Amino acid sequence: MIWDTHAHLDNEDFQSDREKVIERAKANGVTNIINVGFSEATSQKAVTLATKYPFIYATVGIHPHDAKDTSAKTWDFLLRLAQNPKVVAWGEIGLDYYRDLSPRDIQRQVFIQQIELANEVGLPIVIHNRDAHGDILSLIKKHPPEAGGVFHSYSGSWEMAKELLKMGFYLSFSGPLTYKNARHSVEVALQVPEDRFLVETDCPYLTPEPYRGKRNEPAFVREVVSKIAELKGLTFEKVAELSSRNAQALFRVK
Ligand SMILES: [Zn+2]
Repeated sequence: MIWDTHAHLDNEDFQSDREKVIERAKANGVTNIINVGFSEATSQKAVTLATKYPFIYATVGIHPHDAKDTSAKTWDFLLRLAQNPKVVAWGEIGLDYYRDLSPRDIQRQVFIQQIELANEVGLPIVIHNRDAHGDILSLIKKHPPEAGGVFHSYSGSWEMAKELLKMGFYLSFSGPLTYKNARHSVEVALQVPEDRFLVETDCPYLTPEPYRGKRNEPAFVREVVSKIAELKGLTFEKVAELSSRNAQALFRVK
């Protein structure tokens, strides 16, 4: 049993062979996939996909890149989608100070607003954080997500990880953990408690070794599981089981 907790299967990169990619995931032991929305259109597509496949779940939310284009209509639309029983989280939301595609003050405002919406509907949040560690920490301290959340594709330091774990967050690992130059994430994976980590692909992005350079897909989440097993001195099966159990706890699905 393996949960790929962060995939973008609605992406056009999967247009020609989506069914095969999903079959390959199942053949490789991936029992569940969470398809993550990041805009109105992708949130809708995530829900449509989750409705079609019993083992696929969805999230809804607006990425910090698009924070500047939101309005009251956006929130009405997402709140309606969030009523679907296959929607298990609000996200991906957060701050991206690397690309800065929306003004930072608007990113912060829209992040807070979406934490409040998640609290209103009782969903955990999926957090995207790029080069915004300080602001993310202070915002989640002031506006805690009541159903918890996960830092997706966690790349921060162990120092910050300790603070997040204290606040009850989960940390999710992806392809970059398998790269030769991975330092922070290796240190974090070594030390993260067994009941607080998840695995993901973020496909079609962040392809793990030895497939780096190709399109990523849910079957490749096995490489992330293997790497954590190697680092923690556990079996592949144990890491698959722990990360799946953690996903079920955070997203409240059996
Ligand atoms: Zn993503």
